Amino acid sequence: MSQKEMWYETLHAGFGQYFTVDKEVYREKTAHQDLIIFENQVLGRVMALDGVVQTTERDEFIYHEMMTHVPLLAHGQAKRVLIIGGGDGAMLREVCRHRNVEHITMVEIDAGVVTFCRQYLPNHSAGAYEDPRFHLVIEDGVNFVNQTSEKFDVIISDCTDPIGPGESLFTSDFYQGCQRCLNEGGIFVAQNGVCFLQQDEAVNSHKKLSHYFSDVSFYQAAIPTYYGGIMTFAWATNSPVLRQHDVATLQQRFHAAGLQCHYYNPAIHVASFALPQYLLNALSA
Ligand code: SAM
Repeated sequence: MSQKEMWYETLHAGFGQYFTVDKEVYREKTAHQDLIIFENQVLGRVMALDGVVQTTERDEFIYHEMMTHVPLLAHGQAKRVLIIGGGDGAMLREVCRHRNVEHITMVEIDAGVVTFCRQYLPNHSAGAYEDPRFHLVIEDGVNFVNQTSEKFDVIISDCTDPIGPGESLFTSDFYQGCQRCLNEGGIFVAQNGVCFLQQDEAVNSHKKLSHYFSDVSFYQAAIPTYYGGIMTFAWATNSPVLRQHDVATLQQRFHAAGLQCHYYNPAIHVASFALPQYLLNALSA
């Protein structure tokens, strides 16, 4: 039997993960990134950008459920949602499940990611791109949040890591722009890396966000293919109560929203704000 091709992630020097490539589905150098989508016997279809795993069919639900239902159920009455990045469409899919949301804007820098994921990762967007509430803007997210006159109740930064085009989405300029276009009582969340391996990124985001928001913290979930332990999600609002809901309140909202999830539940929502001591120590240093 021929030796299967192996694909090695390049995010961390000297410590990483590999995937067998059972079939290369698509590869393209877009205007911004090197995109590959391949089949893997354990994870289904895998999409990577510039050598870094972005999403896999098998475990994407954990990340997308936690990045949408935590802020949306914490907010309780979000009508307008902004997704930065998110080109694979799964974040949009999860936001669309909230029937009370009236308007969703997605600002994605790379039109190729949207085009190729719609075609080769159809289970991610699952038709969400056809939702009448959806508006796509092809633009650098930092430019959009600093120029738009629109306001939002929840902003979800579903970006790559702070290398290449994603770098601008971890800057004070971006965070200030997000604060500027959030409504009163709004919530900002962002993927902020695996804190065991990317602790500095969490510390830097916390420091920068604290200039613009009065309540900055993280919540977490373990996503197997975001290698190295729990992923931290940045959380920033000007209303501390928004991250202090009890399970009963969230259960009521979860039930009213009619959501069926495979990872998210109200108990895990509350528990996800508990952080490891090494991270708390680093944030308070
Ligand atoms: N779940 C992944 C993670 O946690 O790393 C992110 C997935 S999603 C595919 C990341 C998206 O961010 C990509 O589609 C990429 O093109 C987009 N992106 C990167 N930099 C951006 C920027 N400055 N403005 C808008 N979108 C950006």
